[in-house]
Amino acid sequence: MSENFPFQNSDQLQQWHQGILDANRNNIFCHCRTCGYEWMDSTFDATCIKCSSQDVEHISSWQFPDD
Ligand SMILES: [Zn+2]
Repeated sequence: MSENFPFQNSDQLQQWHQGILDANRNNIFCHCRTCGYEWMDSTFDATCIKCSSQDVEHISSWQFPDD
């Protein structure tokens, strides 16, 4: 698995995906490409709350297909 892949195993991926589903209330999953921090926010303009980087990936929950 790539070192850039944010999840250590499928359990973490499952937890993350479940978190997206649970947070489906105007919340946006944010992933900092600089430090790798992940959090939920309510804006696509969010900057990293850990390192203040603006290189943040914003993923809204409705972009995920049901599986
Ligand atoms: Zn960061």
